[in-house]
Amino acid sequence: MRLKVLGAYGSEGQGQRPSAFLVDDRVLVDAGTVGGALSVPAQIAVEHAILSHAHLDHTVGLAFLADTLAMIAPERCITACSIAPVIDTLRAHVFNDTLWPNFTVIPSRAEPVLRLRELPEETESRVGELWVTPVPVDHAVATAGFIVHDGETGFVYSGDTGPTLRLWQTAREMRGLKALIVETAFPNRMDGLARASGHLTPAMLGREMDKMPPDLPIWVFHVKPQIYQETAEELAQIDPARIHILEQGKTYNF
Ligand SMILES: [Zn+2]
Ligand SMILES: [Zn+2]
Repeated sequence: MRLKVLGAYGSEGQGQRPSAFLVDDRVLVDAGTVGGALSVPAQIAVEHAILSHAHLDHTVGLAFLADTLAMIAPERCITACSIAPVIDTLRAHVFNDTLWPNFTVIPSRAEPVLRLRELPEETESRVGELWVTPVPVDHAVATAGFIVHDGETGFVYSGDTGPTLRLWQTAREMRGLKALIVETAFPNRMDGLARASGHLTPAMLGREMDKMPPDLPIWVFHVKPQIYQETAEELAQIDPARIHILEQGKTYNF
């Protein structure tokens, strides 16, 4: 499967976009940026979004994508999928006609441009052409990591998380996995902030490796752009053969 990196960062900087990935042109994995990375025809071709959690750096692109569909292609629909608490938050606090229009009833309740779909935890669900297993991880708010599979190959996506266990245990039982896409947000000196906010530092990532499926390459995303260089240098010291940072704008084949 093809994974295009729309945004690789844990916030926004000049030319640095928040986390979002596009699988096989049809399924978004998080949606921190969409319109900033895709042409309008490419945006309209997206059918699903699997969202790890409701934080803005993972969802604001969906808000603008719904706006684009309503204007340009109201006959199209994107289905945003996640675990129940994330869907509840999107309904109550984002698409609520206060923060942003309720695009689940636009242009009509019967045929809206946005649908919200709950996925059962730790169970494989069909999302477009893919199989998606959400597994809760350990972040400041309800968050899922995902195992995304096309029947032959797949990858693990951590979402935002601090040290976690269940996702790695579940991934160890799956076949065909080609990559672990794992967050790291802060440099080691911000260990206290990482713990308080449910994120990893390079040193914490190094300790997570003992629990992960062995041997799979680790592709890091969600480094904060404000402290990118320092974090990247620390990541390079852990295991340069196995750990790489995902590059925004690039497409990877897993
Ligand atoms: Zn984030
Ligand atoms: Zn977050």
